[in-house]
Amino acid sequence: MNEPPEQPFEAFPDNAATTHFGFRDVPLRAKQAMVDDVFHSVANRYDLMNDLMSGGLHRAWKSALVTAVNPFKSRPFSLLDLAGGTGDVAFRVLAAGGRATRATVVDINPDMLDVGRARAAARGLTAATFVEGNAEALPFADRSFDAVTIAFGIRNVPRIAAALREAHRVLAIGGRFLCLEFSAVDVPGLDALYDFYSFNVIPALGRAVTGDAEAYRYLVESIRRFPPPESFAELMRAAGLARVSFRPLTGGIVALHSGWRL
Ligand code: SAM
Repeated sequence: MNEPPEQPFEAFPDNAATTHFGFRDVPLRAKQAMVDDVFHSVANRYDLMNDLMSGGLHRAWKSALVTAVNPFKSRPFSLLDLAGGTGDVAFRVLAAGGRATRATVVDINPDMLDVGRARAAARGLTAATFVEGNAEALPFADRSFDAVTIAFGIRNVPRIAAALREAHRVLAIGGRFLCLEFSAVDVPGLDALYDFYSFNVIPALGRAVTGDAEAYRYLVESIRRFPPPESFAELMRAAGLARVSFRPLTGGIVALHSGWRL
């Protein structure tokens, strides 16, 4: 295991020469390709691994996100799900909304999107559109969406501030941004257990299920390097979002961040 960095939460500005990839510092321009390799490697087993690793808890976390999105039931509602991968969040919002709810899934990785398209087809879903794109530079007009979500994605985006500015730009006035992301466990006892599970069990499970332990080592290391929720809230405010708040879930394993475009 690489040693954890001395400053685990160091926030690299978007114009820095370096950033982090797990516990390693890497050139900023190199990170996206490294992240893309991870998701290329695990795309076909990604959903199964989510269930195995979290004991199904990721479903409850995504349900909390969808409850907060609260799509309209009787008038059109448009969702943009950033780094939406295999479509999980989009499918859940479509199920919660009315007949005029539409979801656009953007992801930079065509392999993850292919799995998402196949899952949508298997469900007979036509209200979900899959678009290959970078969260840092979205191919959509200003004020296009009622809600913008990102679940377990922002940690992987090299230029976080740029992605938050883009989320704000494409939100309609009065629209809501919601971000689900791993956070810092704040329950004594649970933290040690969580560390043991993260560094010992998850990479071994990743090797057994996907053949790629390194991808899942990246996962657990990148969680440790993500800013604490207060610092992430500052980044959201700096991007123009208002009434910013966050709520820890499951003892802080995950946090649900919220902000509005006013
Ligand atoms: N949101 C999905 C979920 O919760 O199941 C997938 C999350 S997965 C951990 C992270 C996703 O972020 C991957 O599908 C990856 O391709 C995507 N991603 C990484 N960098 C991105 C970027 N710059 N723009 C858009 N998507 C990106």
